[in-house]
Amino acid sequence: MGVGSRKRAHTGKMEFVISTAALAALHAHAATAYPEECCGLIIERNGREEVVRVTNVQNELHVKDPEQFPRTAAIAYTMGGEAAPVLMAAERSEVRLRAIYHSHPEHEAYFSAEDRKQALGGWDEPNYPTACQLVLSVRDRVVRDTKAFVWDPSVRDYVEIALLVT
Ligand SMILES: [Zn+2]
Repeated sequence: MGVGSRKRAHTGKMEFVISTAALAALHAHAATAYPEECCGLIIERNGREEVVRVTNVQNELHVKDPEQFPRTAAIAYTMGGEAAPVLMAAERSEVRLRAIYHSHPEHEAYFSAEDRKQALGGWDEPNYPTACQLVLSVRDRVVRDTKAFVWDPSVRDYVEIALLVT
């Protein structure tokens, strides 16, 4: 986390609002997937918040091609087939992609350099610049921390924002 994000997080001007139910669903997913990373999406469909669990297929990729995918699901994620139809629906504006989430087993809830690289997908701007990125720290199958990050075009990086649970 850079200085800019620290400042931003403390202004309280930007926040990600999440329902208690959705946050509980994320915690449950992170605990179930442990010791692997979980991943998924939070969308808004017809004004209703929905958590979409997505399979982390990182281990499959790692086994098939360890050279291209050197990292296992313990420290990385690749979204499985459930994500594509939801992301396409978001592109057609049928649903709103509010957030992309994943967990960090036995690590802190920070947005890593790898996470940034993945969000940018080789470009200089994220694939989903308006979607918030939620990272959950899970230790011993218990979620210890959840943090929210958004793309800030002025610093061309993800900065931490407040997570408001309602
Ligand atoms: Zn990560």
